[in-house]
Amino acid sequence: MPSVSQAKNIMRRAISEIVDSRLTRAQKDELWEHFGSSCAFCGEHIERTSRTGHVDHLESSGGNGPKNRVLACARCNGDEKRERDWREFLREKCESADLLAQRQSLIEAWVAKHPERNGEMSREVEEALQKAERLVEEFHAACIRLREAVKANSM
Ligand SMILES: [Zn+2]
Repeated sequence: MPSVSQAKNIMRRAISEIVDSRLTRAQKDELWEHFGSSCAFCGEHIERTSRTGHVDHLESSGGNGPKNRVLACARCNGDEKRERDWREFLREKCESADLLAQRQSLIEAWVAKHPERNGEMSREVEEALQKAERLVEEFHAACIRLREAVKANSM
């Protein structure tokens, strides 16, 4: 059963699935090159042909555009990171402050290089997107009110 914040993340991802186009071949090449064929979190070398590397989501609510994608090994991608904050996760993965600073700036450089959304949007798309995002926030706020009301009711 998903928690309210997980449900919110799933809704945001569903929106992104519609709005953000998939990474192009050129964007994937750029990503592999930027991270030097290594996991953005633990630094493990990844063979592009081996299928052990993944183009992971940096933030679980952040969408499918290139801004929110990093290279990650199978372990970091699936089992360990999940819904956690990437900065907190990265801290655990780095043995020294130097490594942490180095990897964090590599990720931040990648994020800074890309726009919020992948591709141009018409005014109509922009408005429909804002409406959908607003509904997600309203859903979240409504669930929190509901939880408090239920709690008060059972006391
Ligand atoms: Zn890793």
